[in-house]
Amino acid sequence: MADGRLIDRCGRPIRSLRVSVTDRCNLRCRYCMPAEGVPLAPKSSLLDFEGITRAVRVAASLGVTRIRVTGGEPLLRRDLPELLAMLAREPGVTDLSLTTNAVLLERHVEALRDSGVRRLNVSLDSLRPDRFEQMTRMAALEDAWRGIRAASAAGFDPIKINSVVLAGFNDDELDEWVELTREANVVVRFLELMPIGEGAEARRLGGYCDLTQRREELVKRFALEAVPGPGGNGPAVYLRAPGAAGLIGFITPLSNPYCDRCTRFRLTSTGGVRPCLAQDLEISIADAVRAGDDAAIAAGFREAAALKADGHAWRAGGVTETSMSTLGG
Ligand code: SF4
Repeated sequence: MADGRLIDRCGRPIRSLRVSVTDRCNLRCRYCMPAEGVPLAPKSSLLDFEGITRAVRVAASLGVTRIRVTGGEPLLRRDLPELLAMLAREPGVTDLSLTTNAVLLERHVEALRDSGVRRLNVSLDSLRPDRFEQMTRMAALEDAWRGIRAASAAGFDPIKINSVVLAGFNDDELDEWVELTREANVVVRFLELMPIGEGAEARRLGGYCDLTQRREELVKRFALEAVPGPGGNGPAVYLRAPGAAGLIGFITPLSNPYCDRCTRFRLTSTGGVRPCLAQDLEISIADAVRAGDDAAIAAGFREAAALKADGHAWRAGGVTETSMSTLGG
């Protein structure tokens, strides 16, 4: 840390922070939470906008300059564009993006664009209304697409669509997604199921689909060409169908892990710094944030860096207990 920038115990520089602004969600995705939902953090325990901005400012001073705002569903957090504008004004923040399920997106598009967000990641696991409803327990596929179309019209580019692929559920839609990218300028990324919270049960029930294997099949079937990614520094591998407007990406944490080059931390909505998605470990900086103590906040980030796992143990049967809805993916 000669120059004060955050490096973890394995020598990996930490460059990006996922900031969860709420654990509330308007969907009930089966691999994320049960129908009745999960116990929610008391609203009084959520960091306020000044607190989140202070934590991000300190993180940026440690070289963590790429910020992705997540949830739960972040659009459920009241006045979210106000917070996004505060983060966008932070001199140390070099990239600001948002992850959403897009169901509420259409009505927020203008305010999000005006707040300074330029990139969107949309979680959308099926092209079929019946399956979308079966997966999320809400009939809202058309709402999500209206949101995506409105965001595209408002100039958000790229729009990345993340689709968790479950064996025996939606793994027969990969071809349809590839076909969609022929005309649509979107980046469709297929994600492997991770055994986090309800995801562990979904895996136990045979939901895991090896996407490294499926990628090879799709490459042959569609003559997909390897291409550079559309910005962002995530772990995805990108391909394009000949002449297509959009891209296909693969995020394969189990069949082809990328922990050795992980540069990511997470901040929960209640002020917990999580060095690794797979680790049920967090360092609370909530008191330091509320006290306005930047040195203590920085110490919290450094402590997390000193405790960050080499990688996940999911391939060896390891699971992560914490619900994905509090981690923001
Ligand atoms: S499991 Fe942990 S170390 Fe591996 S990529 Fe995810 S956050 Fe990084």
